[in-house]
Amino acid sequence: MGSPASSGQSNPGIESYRCAQCGAQLVYQPGSTQLECPYCGHTTPIAPPATTVDEIPLAFSDKSRLNLELEKDRVIHCNSCAAEFSVAADEVTQSCPFCGSNVVVEAEPIHRITPNGLLPFSFRESKGREFLLKWLGSRFWAPNNLKAQALKHGRLDGMYIPYWTYDSDTTTSYTGMRGDHYWETESYTDSQGNSRTRQVRRTAWSFASGTVFVEFDDVLVLGSDSVSDKFGQRLSNWDLEALVPYETQYLVGFHTLRYSRDLERCWSTAQQFMQPEIDSSIRYDIGGDDQRITTKNTAYNDNSFKHILLPVFAGSYRYGKKNYNFLVNGRSGEVQGEAPISFWKVLIAVVLALIVIGTAVYFYQESEQGQGSSSSQSVEVLPF
Ligand SMILES: [Zn+2]
Ligand SMILES: [Zn+2]
Repeated sequence: MGSPASSGQSNPGIESYRCAQCGAQLVYQPGSTQLECPYCGHTTPIAPPATTVDEIPLAFSDKSRLNLELEKDRVIHCNSCAAEFSVAADEVTQSCPFCGSNVVVEAEPIHRITPNGLLPFSFRESKGREFLLKWLGSRFWAPNNLKAQALKHGRLDGMYIPYWTYDSDTTTSYTGMRGDHYWETESYTDSQGNSRTRQVRRTAWSFASGTVFVEFDDVLVLGSDSVSDKFGQRLSNWDLEALVPYETQYLVGFHTLRYSRDLERCWSTAQQFMQPEIDSSIRYDIGGDDQRITTKNTAYNDNSFKHILLPVFAGSYRYGKKNYNFLVNGRSGEVQGEAPISFWKVLIAVVLALIVIGTAVYFYQESEQGQGSSSSQSVEVLPF
């Protein structure tokens, strides 16, 4: 192991934070910069960070610069869904917070890239529950008793989820086609046999090529298979400017998910995420009314990354016979998840829609008949 330039490598494991008064394991108090003893209430401030959250150059060939460290915390592995998360030294973990399976074992510590930044939780689980209920209440198609059911059977786990962020200065050379619209007068023969003219839109295509430069800052990629991409990648309201240097004191009292998608794999995901913006930049560069991109070749320069932990309340609730998963952003309260759809609400909506369509069709037919058969002969098409 080399000596990484970035912060965080000197953090002790999470088990070492003990209450000065009674010796119990302290927990991080969301929304604050202090640890709290859940037994006697004694608080200990977290020292203000001595460093900043720096970008790390992306150099796969030089592993010594990647902040690799042997893990210090106890890590639990779920044999059922393969989730791996760190727990406190004295925590008894009987089930997996992701799949509920009780086949969990201790994992061997291995060398991994240490996070260099995180966003601490800004509210507690009870508040997370409020955000969830508010969100459930706003689901239009959900059954009316959903909130009550979810309250009874719902479960919420505060945990830090691993993400990677990437910066890159991209240079893309492309070839393509530029389309310019113009109007042409076309002759045709109508059904009565008269020759007429009409205006038709055409597109003139011409060859185009060039180079575009797009800078990307903090492209965010989910680093775990244990969280569904659907929700984990969609949670987007992160105040990344508020990142603090990695500090294990913020993690005590919460599970921290280990990354299962590594730096290299997520870098190619990040490159995919960059494509739409590069494409629109090419289209703008080509100009005209329509564009086609034939070839493009992107060079990624000055690439750097951060490995960060973001706080979420993850959970599921049961409704009927099905489990529904959700994530609550532990900073903004944003919720991403699934909700059941009420059969009765949908049925009523379909019946109402059919009535509306049926009525419209009825009146349309009425008005057609009212105008009689003579009307069709009076229609006259004027030549252009
Ligand atoms: Zn205490
Ligand atoms: Zn599991």
